[in-house]
Amino acid sequence: MLSENKKEQFKMVLTRRLDELSGKNNLLIENIHKVESGYADPFDWAAFNCQRDIHLRMRERECILINEIIDALEKIQDGTYGICEECQEAISEKRLRASPITTLCIDCKTRQEEREKKRKRYSLI
Ligand SMILES: [Zn+2]
Repeated sequence: MLSENKKEQFKMVLTRRLDELSGKNNLLIENIHKVESGYADPFDWAAFNCQRDIHLRMRERECILINEIIDALEKIQDGTYGICEECQEAISEKRLRASPITTLCIDCKTRQEEREKKRKRYSLI
């Protein structure tokens, strides 16, 4: 189990990351608006749409990450942070330090990745 002190540390790391990400997201939205109002030519539009797509995909990834950070912060709040969602065992502190938003212990994560690999292999056929 993580001590209160450690939990505070993780909370700080996660909160800082969340601040960074939400700041960056605002910038991204501003850029999208800026580009949106600037292009009238249809060819430019096509180029811009393509660019916007990349931005949106980046944003989508960031949104997922933001949600994961919020989930982790909620777990700290309700005392379930650092507990594997699958086997309910404690996740090692080393693993949490490397990836504070992780919700699975290394064993369950490895099993999950293997399942995904298998699934991908079958969907390719
Ligand atoms: Zn586990």
